[in-house]
Amino acid sequence: TGGSSRRFRVVLLGARGVGKSAIASIFAGAADSMDSDECELYGDEVCEQTITVDGEKATVTLVDNWDSEDEGGLSQDQCIQTGDAYLLVYSITDRSSFLQASELRISLRQHRPAHHTPIILVGNKCDLVRRREVSVTEGRVCAAVFDCKFIETSAAMQHNVWPAFHGIVQQLRLRRDTK
Ligand code: GDP
Ligand code: MG
Repeated sequence: TGGSSRRFRVVLLGARGVGKSAIASIFAGAADSMDSDECELYGDEVCEQTITVDGEKATVTLVDNWDSEDEGGLSQDQCIQTGDAYLLVYSITDRSSFLQASELRISLRQHRPAHHTPIILVGNKCDLVRRREVSVTEGRVCAAVFDCKFIETSAAMQHNVWPAFHGIVQQLRLRRDTK
């Protein structure tokens, strides 16, 4: 179908401490890749993995270097310019990370104005119910305003993390198919 040759670059964005690396390590540990390609790590911030979504394979490169200060790594500008799709992560226990996600949504719009870029707003740490500072409704409303999908996840409980990856691949395919 040609779909199997598709490579998608998905970038994790969000404030420090919201759980981007925890989400990336779930991706890196995908059992799906057992057959041929182990998750290939380039540095420890980029992971490539072939996953099956709706019965079709997709090769996803997940980039988790948004808040790394490393020399030689991608700058934040490169990071935001080179994605095919974005997971915009905040922590439901940290309102300032929610506000930062909004700011990132605005800079995404500036960097990628011409595209209908797939974005999912991800409210992570939903296991920490007693420390919640951002309601589900606020997350949902924000996503509607910013014209993107929304999901709450818990990397700690491995809850809804795969649906987020699958959702971003589905959005990428929708965009591909309507081109
Ligand atoms: P990053 O700076 O965005 O990469 O965040 P990390 O992945 O390093 O996570 C920051 C801290 O939050 C670590 O102590 C993680 O163990 C913790 N953490 C990440 N995701 C979750 C989650 O879903 N629930 C809980 N309770 N803790 C989490
Ligand atoms: Mg990290």
